Amino acid sequence: QAHLLTIEALNPRLNAYITVTPEVALQQAKAADAALAKGEAGPLTGIPLAIKDLFCTAGTRTTAASKILGNFVPPYESTVTANLLRDGAVFLGKANLDEFAMGSSNATSAFGGVENPWKRTGDDTVLVPGGSSGGSAAAVAARLALGATATDTGGSIRQPAAFCGIAGIKPTYGRVSRFGTVAFASSLDQAGPMARTVEDCAILLGSMAGFDPKDSTSAQMAVPDFAAACARGVKGLRIGIPKEYRVPGMPAEIEALWQQGIAMLKDAGAEPVEISLPHTQYALPTYYIVAPAEASSNLARYDGVRFGLREEGSDLKDLYERTRRAGFGDEVRRRILIGTYVLSAGYYDAYYLKAQKVRALIKRDFDEAWGKVDAILAPATPSAAFGQGEMQDDPVAMYLIDVFTVTANLAGIPGLTVPTGLDSKGLPLGLQILGKPFDEETVFAVGSALE
Ligand code: GLN
Repeated sequence: QAHLLTIEALNPRLNAYITVTPEVALQQAKAADAALAKGEAGPLTGIPLAIKDLFCTAGTRTTAASKILGNFVPPYESTVTANLLRDGAVFLGKANLDEFAMGSSNATSAFGGVENPWKRTGDDTVLVPGGSSGGSAAAVAARLALGATATDTGGSIRQPAAFCGIAGIKPTYGRVSRFGTVAFASSLDQAGPMARTVEDCAILLGSMAGFDPKDSTSAQMAVPDFAAACARGVKGLRIGIPKEYRVPGMPAEIEALWQQGIAMLKDAGAEPVEISLPHTQYALPTYYIVAPAEASSNLARYDGVRFGLREEGSDLKDLYERTRRAGFGDEVRRRILIGTYVLSAGYYDAYYLKAQKVRALIKRDFDEAWGKVDAILAPATPSAAFGQGEMQDDPVAMYLIDVFTVTANLAGIPGLTVPTGLDSKGLPLGLQILGKPFDEETVFAVGSALE
């Protein structure tokens, strides 16, 4: 009830939730009370969460922040949300995001942008929460939820976590089931948690993760005790510092924060090691070919026939066209156009195939690094949160914001954002810990040492 009251007070301004479900929440909270009374509490009994509106929730509208799914009520539950419910969680509602998770500022939502709860000192400019999981991040930061689910295709957990001063982890590809999560780019998409502390993320991930026969890319791996790993310490760990992440134009404050993080880990007994990830410079162009290519294929299912919005047409083709014209926003159209272009005969070899080859080289950079280091420390973003409306007309500038995050998705490795400081204007900044595939435990240990 306390969270529902906070939502009532702040959501009209922040717009962090697309749908609030008080009846569902109070009913689940009652069940949690009953479980507690019987001594049958699970790891998340009674914990109120925001669910990114990309996870199908049975009986609760799931929009992907798109008009094309504006009236879609899934008849089934995603594996992630089913796992959380199994462990006793309470769902407050569905969190806002960029349309189909395409964006870095939450500006592409068909339900309006989300406001970052943080402000620059002495400046009322409305700032973006980052994206695409901006609603999840703002909800957690402003106490509209204790934790949230999110997804990360190219940074959508780690970048908004950094902009809103909270923690968030993208697990290893295959760690968390994608069943029932609206697909953006299937070889990159991974769900993960956001919370105010690294340990809270570890507890939530423990519940979300696990093998799922309903997702063919789900890994047959036991789920370790992530929360216990938070207390391991970093003594003797070798921490890679990738020199390619020192990009031109990065503010000195972010470099200083990075150095401070390195010093903290050193004091705690870790050994910093300079490493090279030489193909980092090709990561953004590679991502912005692979992700739209997969998106153009995934979004073909929104045709006005099977589910979601339908605009009447004179024939089938006319119905498709009218439905998509009414249903998809500008950024989604741009991605579909880029995707179909790079996959079309004549361009496939030059763009898509080339991007797949470069993707393999980016992954190989990391494989080689793991011979020398146990984890990697880098900034999460090249800047703090920016103002709403900034960069709106410059999609390429917006794409460049993902420079530090897309590599982890291309390589399939885990990445955790830890809030580690404020800039001179009082805005949060975060560092990112990257880890070996399926070694989230070391990532959590390093992250905890930076809190
Ligand atoms: N900002 C990136 C994009 O627009 C990443 C989004 C995401 O991770 N879902 O594609």
